[in-house]
Amino acid sequence: MKTIPPFRLILEPMSEEAKMLTPFKWAGDRIGKRHLLGGKPHFIQEESWPVCPDCNNKMTFYAQLDSLNDEICIADCGMIYIFVCLECNEVKSFIQSN
Ligand SMILES: [Zn+2]
Repeated sequence: MKTIPPFRLILEPMSEEAKMLTPFKWAGDRIGKRHLLGGKPHFIQEESWPVCPDCNNKMTFYAQLDSLNDEICIADCGMIYIFVCLECNEVKSFIQSN
């Protein structure tokens, strides 16, 4: 399993609508800023590391994408986790939330 070095993903609004998006009202400070590419996933629930359906090896963690605000909220302030097998080009994703 290949590991990708960590990158913090910082959102850059690309439209007026995106700029105007209201932030979370009650969620903690970190919620909405946990986007990450590479490194190690920050699991909200227990660790869940998918296995490639083709080669049966552990998949490489590619990214986690956070909820955006109270309206665009993944489950209960959850995140989407994305894993890839760079050998077989297989992708698996799932949601974890509080
Ligand atoms: Zn594979």
